[in-house]
Parts: sequence; C-alpha cells; structure tokens
Amino acid sequence: MKIATIVTITAIGCATNAFAQNPDAKYASYPSYAGEDLELTVDSKGTHWRLWSPEAEAARVILYPTGLNTAATDTIDMSRSEKGTWVANVPEQLYGSFYTFSIKDKGKWLAETPGVWAKAVGTNGTRAAIIDFETTNPEGWEKDKGPALAHINDAVIYEMHHRDFSEHPSSGIVNKGKFLALTEPYTKNPEGEATGINHLKDLGVTHVHILPSYDYNSVDEANLQANQYNWGYDPYNYNAPEGSYSTNPADPATRVSEMKQMVKNLHDNGIGVIMDVVYNHTANNDDSNFSLTAPGYYYRHRPDGSYSDASGCGNETASERQQMRDFIINSVKYWAKEYHIDGFRFDLMAIHDIETMNQVAAALKEINPDIFIYGEGWTAGDSPLPVEQRALKENVAKMPDIAVFSDDIRDAIKGHYTDAADRGFATGKPGLEETVKIGIVAATPHPQVDYSKGNNSKFPYAAAPTQIINYVSCHDDLMLTDKLRKSMPDATDAERQRAARLAQTIVLTSQGTPFIFAGEEIFRDKKGVHNSYKSPDSINAIDWNLRHQNADQYNYYKELIKLRKSHPAFRMTTAEQIQKHLKFDKVTQPGLISYSLLDNANGDPWKEIKVIFNGSDESRQVKVRKGNWIVIADDGQINAEGLGTSKGGNVTVAPRSALILALEK
Ligand code: CA
Repeated sequence: MKIATIVTITAIGCATNAFAQNPDAKYASYPSYAGEDLELTVDSKGTHWRLWSPEAEAARVILYPTGLNTAATDTIDMSRSEKGTWVANVPEQLYGSFYTFSIKDKGKWLAETPGVWAKAVGTNGTRAAIIDFETTNPEGWEKDKGPALAHINDAVIYEMHHRDFSEHPSSGIVNKGKFLALTEPYTKNPEGEATGINHLKDLGVTHVHILPSYDYNSVDEANLQANQYNWGYDPYNYNAPEGSYSTNPADPATRVSEMKQMVKNLHDNGIGVIMDVVYNHTANNDDSNFSLTAPGYYYRHRPDGSYSDASGCGNETASERQQMRDFIINSVKYWAKEYHIDGFRFDLMAIHDIETMNQVAAALKEINPDIFIYGEGWTAGDSPLPVEQRALKENVAKMPDIAVFSDDIRDAIKGHYTDAADRGFATGKPGLEETVKIGIVAATPHPQVDYSKGNNSKFPYAAAPTQIINYVSCHDDLMLTDKLRKSMPDATDAERQRAARLAQTIVLTSQGTPFIFAGEEIFRDKKGVHNSYKSPDSINAIDWNLRHQNADQYNYYKELIKLRKSHPAFRMTTAEQIQKHLKFDKVTQPGLISYSLLDNANGDPWKEIKVIFNGSDESRQVKVRKGNWIVIADDGQINAEGLGTSKGGNVTVAPRSALILALEK
C-alpha cells in the first residue's frame, strides 16, 4: 500500500485525540495478558469472556440474537481480573448468539465494540459471533496441508484480489468475487481455455497471495448488490474473514467455512495461500476496536498527543508495546493454525519493530517450518519508532527469516513508479545495469556488483537471497501493461509484450523469490489507473478473453516458470553460493547484462547457464565460449527443454530480449 491509497482512507475517520503529553510511559506500565483465552472461549462449563482493558472503570458484555438491527437480549457486568483483564461467564454454550463489549472510560460508557479478538462476526462486523468452529471445517480438514517448501525462493508467488480474479463474465466462474471462486474446478473462458484454479495450476505458480481477506471496513456487506470494490487495506476485525467475499456475510460460520474451503481446494491442487496482513494501522482512530477496548494504548503518538501517522492513513500501531506485539503474533498464529495459511505478507512492515517481526517469524516457524514471511520494508511517513528499530528493507539482515520486496529491481527494470513516462532497463533506458545486477544477486554482497551505482540502495542489505522478493509490478501503482503503454507511447502492444517478456525473464531468473501480479501473464491492464483501490470492476476485473488473444504471451510466462522450477541454479540459498557460482561478464555496451551460473550451481543438472539481457532496441553481439549449448531463450521465445542449439562464439542477442543458453557438461 502506498500513500496515495491511504490519503483517501484518512477521510473515513481521522479524529484527533489530544493528550496533554506523550503517554508512552503510562502505556509501558500497563500489565499485559498473554493467555490465549482473550475475549471469548466456549467449553463444557459455558461461555466465557475476558477483555483486556487495564484502565477501564467498568466493562460489560451485551448479548444479541443476530448480527445486526436487533435489540439486546442481555447485558452482563464484567468483573476485574488479573493483568488488566475483565471477565464474565454464563453456564450455557451460547452458540448462535452475538455480543459486543463496552467499557467505561473517564466516567463515560464508550461505543460498543466486537473487541479486537472477534473470530467470527455478522454483517459489517459490528457484533462478534459465538460459533462452534469445528462445524466450519471442510471434510478432510485435519489432514489438510499446504505445499512443502525447502526455501522461500522455491516459491513462485501470484498476487491476486478475489474480485479481480473471478468477477469478469469471461471467467466462467459461478461464485464471482467470492472465496468459493477458488473452489470451482475446470472453469473456462468463452474460448474453452482454463480459468480459475486450473489456470493457476497450468501456469505453474506455487502460491497465491490474496489481498486483505480479514474483515475490512469499506465495502458495505449489507448492500452487496452495489458491487463495491476495495483492496481492503482498511482493517476492522483482524481475526475474522471479510464478509463480502462470502456468499452470506450475515452468517458468521459461512464466512469462516467458505474461506477454509478455498484454502483446502488450493492445497488439494498443490497451491499454497499467503495472506496480506495490515497490522500497521486501523481504518478508524478513536472509533477503532483498539481504541474502544484500551483507549490510546495500541497506537503511537506525537509529543503533542496526536496520532502519529507512518501509515499515511491517520494512525500507526505500536508493535513495541507488549500487548500489541502479542496481538500481532497471536493473530498470525491463529490464521496459520485455524485456516492453514502458508505465508504472510506484511503491509508497511517497517512500521513494526524488528523484535516483533523476529518473534512473528519464530512463532510461525514453530507451527510450520515451511511458513514464510515477507513485507514492504518501508513506511509511508515518518514514525516515532527509531529508524534502527524499524523492520526496514535496510535492516533485513537483522531479520533472518523475513524477506522484503526489492524496489531496486522493480524500478530499475520498468522505470520509476512515481513517473509514468520513465523507462527502465527493459524498455531501453541506459545507466540502470548496476541496479538490475543488485536485483540479480538479490541484494547480497557480490564482488562484481558496485552498490555505489545502485539507484535505490547503496549497500548489499540482504544477508541471503531468501530475504528478497523480486517483482516488476503488483496491485500498487501502474501495473506492467499500463506502465509499458505510458512509457512506450509510440510502440505497438506486440513490442510492449516483448518488453514484458524481458522484464519477467529478469525477475524469474534472478536470485531471490519471484512475484507476479495476477493477469500479467495474459497482458491484462487496468486502463491506465495507477491507484485502483476502489475503482470499479470495469477497471480491476481480469478479462479472461485475453488468455486467448495473448496466448503466446501466456505460454512464455508458463515456460519461464517451468524453467525456474526445474533449475535450482536460479534458486541459490546463500550469499556465498551466489559469490561462488554467479559470474558477470565484462560487457561495456549500454543496456546489456551478461552472466553465467557455473559448476552445476545449487545442484543444477546443467553445468553452466549463460543469461544475457539486452534492454536496448538494437541487436548486440556477445562473445560466449565455444561448446554444445542448448538455446533456452532467444529473440522473445523460450522453451525450458530447448529451442535449438548453438556452438557459442560470437552470438547475437536480439533487441529487447533475453538470450539463455545451457551447457549440459
Ligand atoms: Ca467487512
């Protein structure tokens, strides 16, 4: 998420709560409660509530028969308990009921809240629900498991929004815009080509990264026929699924069970699920669930008492405080255990502190060693959190089990994100070769990379290639097709597709973990809209007819993914391996990069792989040693098994294309 996204969200609810002075010291003195029974548990003895609210003067639970528009059936006073918590109990298992909390603060009862730990909610998430989670599990759930992964860089990540993926009529999917879209097998576009889950399998991606799927604020779940669209970077209930992605948001169990069915079906098809999580800010300020349970505590403030705003959204959370840190850790643990989530992408991760992120990683690895974590290693504004404590890209070496997005390779390949017309290496702009090389070695130390010439980063910030996510586009900013149209205004789409192939060949062959944006593989666009966070489906939905029109483009992506997956040389796991096995050639012409992966790198069956990128619009001659080379990619074509052969010597690299050669021995 970027600033431009959030500015608009600020308007939703951005009241200023002025404290006389910075209350950090007061919050640090609060007791914290580490138990896993926060807010609601149901057992054989009945229904139990435990709300953390250290400064409340009183607290109560209010019971309702439905999730919306009904009068309370009961109000239960809570009593003070240990470590800042308040408790209430009833001897019955109140399955089917809904509840809210209210606390008394400075003599006044605050507005009702479902709490911060509501795991099931009704329409628009204003009331928490009491459900039996056992009943939400799909058949075979206890044996359900995501794909095994030795290292994060064995993954090929596909970033998607539920509506983008299935909403267009051409998807052939019944449950459009829903979790269930990813449970429908053998869906097809009008030309009979696979869409949905079979498309993902055919393409060969290993993981889908789903945009925020917890309950967010902006889409009115009581009015789904309005077909509102939002990316979902406006968190409301962190631990319950978003209602508009279920077929019945009013039924809390349906929301849960449909999301689980989605995960199960993806897993059954060998595909993992990564959740986009946004713990860095909340949609509302004084009215957020955090503020209504423990006013002030969960947020950072400026010296004048106003909310600090590193998210650009009107507030930022305070991960360095124990109860907030525990909240983040326990929340991701919950998604990993209850929903079998395989990975987490942290939005604006640098708003969180390094210690919290390391504890997140440790807690998740304990549940499943294959779970991986990556995030945006930046903030969208300044923060009171000292720079050296922030989970920044530049600090990633201090977070061994966490990866960050490489804005280095992103901007170097296609041009800077702030300037639509700006070109990059793959569209013929000279001078970016060294920054692309930083991407190729995954920002690890390498004797042949001059970091002082890097455009974004000036030092090798990653300790290992497993700490880097490589990409050229994502949901933010102009996606690749639109960026190419704006920066190559006089070119044809065929020429732009050629540039897209080169761009993605750099991403998929570089060390680190590749990440693509849904629909790039069929050259989708978003009609030039760079911040489509609430644009209609007409902008955001992927037109699956393009799968037919751009079949060659699709096949290139598919073959490129196959190449990466079948060759561990592209997936080295340590900086030392890269230093030893990846050697750049001395080339002086602008727009040219040439390197070799040597000596069966990382156990690769190929003795040597020669990778040459020509971003210019002229042919280039490169000298390659003589041998029986297999030509893998040439002049905009690719075949993981080989397009033909070459004897080496002086070889020609066609304009704006990759030449990949392989020696078997
Ligand atoms: Ca919602």
